Amino acid sequence: MGNDSSIEMYKERIKNTISLANGHWLFILDRLGIDKKYLSGSNTACPVCKGTDRFQFHDRNENGDWFCRKAGGHSQSGNGFNLLMESYGWSFHEALVEVEKTIQCNSYRTELKRSISHSTQLKEKQDAAEKIQKILKSSFPFEKNDPVGRYLKARGYEGVADKCDFLFHPSLAYWEKQGSQFVKLGTYPAMIAKVVNTQGEIISLHRLWLTPEGKKAPVPCQKKSMPPIGGSMKGCSIQLFKPDSGPLVLATGIETSLGAAALTQRPAWATMSDAMLGSVILPSHTTEVWVFGDSDFPCTNSNNPGKDAAIKAAQTYRDQGKKVRLFLPQTPGLDFDDVWQTGQYSQQNKIAA
Ligand SMILES: [Zn+2]
Repeated sequence: MGNDSSIEMYKERIKNTISLANGHWLFILDRLGIDKKYLSGSNTACPVCKGTDRFQFHDRNENGDWFCRKAGGHSQSGNGFNLLMESYGWSFHEALVEVEKTIQCNSYRTELKRSISHSTQLKEKQDAAEKIQKILKSSFPFEKNDPVGRYLKARGYEGVADKCDFLFHPSLAYWEKQGSQFVKLGTYPAMIAKVVNTQGEIISLHRLWLTPEGKKAPVPCQKKSMPPIGGSMKGCSIQLFKPDSGPLVLATGIETSLGAAALTQRPAWATMSDAMLGSVILPSHTTEVWVFGDSDFPCTNSNNPGKDAAIKAAQTYRDQGKKVRLFLPQTPGLDFDDVWQTGQYSQQNKIAA
């Protein structure tokens, strides 16, 4: 009995080593002193019988597979274990032990790589946090007569946005990637919005570059988010208004969300992208969500990404057990910012689902 179980254990050990070694034989054989010239994959001299061009390490099954057409005094084909046994006159057990040692060394290297990448991630996290802090330190709550206040007023959100936590940065550098490097194209006033996670921690900043008059700045891309702390903005949003016990409005852009908030008199959050419209982690006390989608012009391939994202998001929140209402503008090409600005609410206020 005891004997049987130790045989079983040994078989298990072999199986385990074969599986760990699979795909790593080039590394293992090199480590164990088989000259690389034998492992090129072309016809070469044989490390065992010393035939001049009869050997090929093809590694077809990634088990260190090879064959030798001369096979003078050794087997014609085999795997990595056979190669070690025949090259060094080792028993199978000796080959097994050596391979195991090499694999352990290899997994140590993998661990090492992992810990290096972990410290790189930490460094990136710190860098992202420092950049965000630097901007926050130079920003102030916006006022009616600064560029942010002027921008919001010009878009029809004076009053609506009074309670929003937008910040005003007087001179934010604008950098643009040109080829492989970043080039500074100037400094402009900017509207800063905090992107927060469900605990209210700041994960990124959304920046909108403006002119002193409160128009969009003459830069290639006026709106940009900063690299998020921790590498992902999943679940995060710009919480424009504090949610109450009633429905929470979700829309993609800041302006669209302000439009939706103005139209409904409900607190709204901006998700920044279609993709994130359905991935916001909602406050646990929120039982009802109103999803405000965009109605893009039908694209050439007849899909409507804004509308599709809104429908999908609505379903996601329904699946989470929330009561959901979906709002879509009826006119193609409009979003709820346009609807608010053009005063089309009365005829646009159609609940699509
Ligand atoms: Zn040979």
